[in-house]
Amino acid sequence: MRFTVLGKSPAWEDTGGACSGYLVEEQETQLLLECGNGVFGKLRERMPDYSAIDAVVVSHLHADHWLDLIPFSYALNYSPSRVHSGEMPIAGSAGPALWGPPGSTDAFGRVTGAWGSEELLATAFEVNEYEPDGEISVGGISVTFQPVPHYIETYAISLVTANGSRIVHGADCRPNNELIEFAKGADLLTVEATLAQQGDEPEDERGHMTAREAGELAGKAEVGAVMITHFSDELDPDQVRSEAEAGYGAEVILAAEGETVEL
Ligand SMILES: [Zn+2]
Ligand SMILES: [Zn+2]
Repeated sequence: MRFTVLGKSPAWEDTGGACSGYLVEEQETQLLLECGNGVFGKLRERMPDYSAIDAVVVSHLHADHWLDLIPFSYALNYSPSRVHSGEMPIAGSAGPALWGPPGSTDAFGRVTGAWGSEELLATAFEVNEYEPDGEISVGGISVTFQPVPHYIETYAISLVTANGSRIVHGADCRPNNELIEFAKGADLLTVEATLAQQGDEPEDERGHMTAREAGELAGKAEVGAVMITHFSDELDPDQVRSEAEAGYGAEVILAAEGETVEL
């Protein structure tokens, strides 16, 4: 399995960067994990034939995890290459699969409905909502979910191949045991490190982690490798790394656009 960072910014893009987006490739299968603002352009740099994506999986409905599904939909429906080749999908039946959390279909429709296009995503993708305790298959990748505490309903996502390689994407969350248990023994765990410091919010109402907390969480999960992500370029990357490594007790991978991990 190959895991490539398309975007690692938090809720606002880094200079020239993109919000959450990761390309996961396993043999012939190509899965886009999150599609935040700025991600579609980054996907095109890596994958000129973006229509070959098999599925997009979204952890939660904050804009920085799905907003570029809008330009992605316009491209699938109207790009000159698609129109001229006669490959336009027909009302979602032939487009890539889109798996969002419960309630996502309505939420997508409300946003694009602001300009009268409630069905935009449904005309480009085969839109589905996953069951939180269910399992989906994307080519050779098995996908399962774990609720994690964030400001809104949010799911960590596990991706497992037939030969047992396993990636867990931690999505956005505060420190929690659910993600530690869910990620136990994974080959790679992504953990968010949005916060420069803990701040004044009560511990059980926070939605994010510091780099140190991200490292500590990964250490408890006993994973093969940890990638620290969802941090701003307005933070000092050396400090993010040193705090995460102090929490983890070993080297971490700092997410950067184009960074690839082979498992
Ligand atoms: Zn979020
Ligand atoms: Zn986010």
